[in-house]
Amino acid sequence: MIPPLRITDIRTTTVSVPLEAAIRHANGCHWGRFVRTIVEVDTDAGITGLGEVGGGGESAEAAFQGLKQYLVGHDPFALEALRFMIANPTASLYNNRTQLLAAIEFACLDIVGQALGVPVYRLLGGKLRDVVPFASYLFFRFASDPTGRHEVRTVEQLLSEARALKARHGFTSHKLKGGVFPPEHELACYRALAEGLPGDTFRFDPNAVFSIDQAIRFGRALADLPNDYYEDPTWGLNGMRQVRAAVPIRLATNTVVVNFEQLATNLRDPAVDVILLDTTFWGGIRPCIKAAAVCETVQTEIAVHSSGELGIQLATMLHLGAVLPNLTFAADAHYHHLADDVIAGGKLNYQDGAIRIPDGPGLGVRLDHDRVDRYAAAYRHLGSYPYDRDPARPGWFATVPNSTWANPEAPFWFDGTDAHAM
Ligand SMILES: [Mg+2]
Repeated sequence: MIPPLRITDIRTTTVSVPLEAAIRHANGCHWGRFVRTIVEVDTDAGITGLGEVGGGGESAEAAFQGLKQYLVGHDPFALEALRFMIANPTASLYNNRTQLLAAIEFACLDIVGQALGVPVYRLLGGKLRDVVPFASYLFFRFASDPTGRHEVRTVEQLLSEARALKARHGFTSHKLKGGVFPPEHELACYRALAEGLPGDTFRFDPNAVFSIDQAIRFGRALADLPNDYYEDPTWGLNGMRQVRAAVPIRLATNTVVVNFEQLATNLRDPAVDVILLDTTFWGGIRPCIKAAAVCETVQTEIAVHSSGELGIQLATMLHLGAVLPNLTFAADAHYHHLADDVIAGGKLNYQDGAIRIPDGPGLGVRLDHDRVDRYAAAYRHLGSYPYDRDPARPGWFATVPNSTWANPEAPFWFDGTDAHAM
């Protein structure tokens, strides 16, 4: 018999973990590092559960402090109560706590798994596979020094990077993050990937910055390629519905179907074919499983989304991927861009394009406190970064739809603070 458990404390540590190079996206850039808030939930049984959350380059520590008064004394097994305590759908209109709920849910599942001596996937229905396949996640990147090292800007650089990642990790599906350069340059890049890596499959994601007209023209121009799907070409369910009617490719989203209300709307009046489930955006692993079950019932496809993760959140994605019967696409992860991780043993490995699902109790990953201390010191030194700004274009910000693109002829190197023309 497991004695009743009670939460006794919530501790948070903000870390800044280096990326191999700064990675560019439609709204700006990850400035050569990920800033993540590590959450440790303590219990009276001496078991500590782990959670993790992002925040657009900023610390989320202060937001968790506000949750302590609700959660100290709470039973970590009581996960449905947790949902309403933190993110009641009407109350949370005022404090939007979905991602905080997710981090606490991860930690509570980790506690329950450790208390019972079983991996989280056994709490969620049991694993259907031993590994989760991942796509390469290709970004345009700034050079990391004046020699041009790590730069991905040209067609040739992108194809070279994709081939190197495939050789190193075994990826057979490739995602290109676009919305940075003019669409004709990104189309040339995407087509070159598909032609240069025969037999593999591909997905393109411009983060919803295309106009409907642009999204349709771009989608028709890649329709002959072996696409997994075309992700968030434009903004909004109504915009996506118009593009879907005009383009013969599956559309995917991680932006306009991120809760059950939107999922219901999409089922009544389809705008999207593939729902990308993000354990953070949906408020935890369990809501993703509920959404996947709805999708299974109506034969809407799913995949696992990445909002940028260290090993704790990656573990949540692996346990999610373990139990989904209808997971037919490779998952996304930023993970291979990281130079290191905060978990004991360092980064989890890819083998043949997949990562093994942890079998240890709970999430199956534990913190390496030396690494946490090192990257907490890095955060104190470097501070936050503006995820939605491009260091090479001071004063610029993205609109939706966007029409002001970065110049693919202009190389920059980036030191984590300022971009320098080369
Ligand atoms: Mg996306």
